Formats: sequence, C-alpha cells, structure tokens
Amino acid sequence: MAAGEGTVRERIVRVLMEARRPLTAREIAELVGLDPSTGEREVYEHLRHVAKTLRRRLGGRAALYMVPPSCRDCGYVFTDLTEPRRPSRCPRCKSERISPPRFYIEF
Ligand SMILES: [Zn+2]
Repeated sequence: MAAGEGTVRERIVRVLMEARRPLTAREIAELVGLDPSTGEREVYEHLRHVAKTLRRRLGGRAALYMVPPSCRDCGYVFTDLTEPRRPSRCPRCKSERISPPRFYIEF
C-alpha cells in the first residue's frame, strides 16, 4: 500500500461529504492539505478512484457527481466527459478560459 494514499483519499471523501456546495479540484486540494500547485492534478486522480470506491463500499447509496466544466467565453458545456478532468481548451471557440468541473457526493 502506498504511503498516505488511502489517507488522502479518505480526507477527500470526508471533505466532499461535509461540503454544502460542489467543490473544484483546487478547493479540494487546499481543504485536504495538498500543495495547491501540484495538488489539483493529484485530486483528479484520486476522484477517479473515489467514484469506484463509493459504488463498491456503499452499494450505490452514495455517488460522486460532477458539475461539468464550461467555457467562460462562449458558454460551451463539456457534457460528454467520462472521467474527472479539466479540459484545457474549448472545442467550439478555442478559448482556454475554462471554468473547472466541480464535484459533490450525494446520498
Ligand atoms: Zn468556448
């Protein structure tokens, strides 16, 4: 077992369960005490596993949801994402001003 890995993931789940609004990966990184500059990428990686863990452990009673990212310039919404990530560029207007996805756990 990788050192601390489970612990960070557990903290991510707890932060999401206690949050009263959807959180971005950056906000989650700060709340669980990860380095803000590198933590965002790490949180996305953890979130992919959190989605699976919740399904397995809670038998579908709770699930991870994602408010999809959107383009700040033209309003395009990335509704076809299959996993937690932050797109770098809008396919419609090529803008890089992308509003990041936000995450929440619902029972
Ligand atoms: Zn756009």
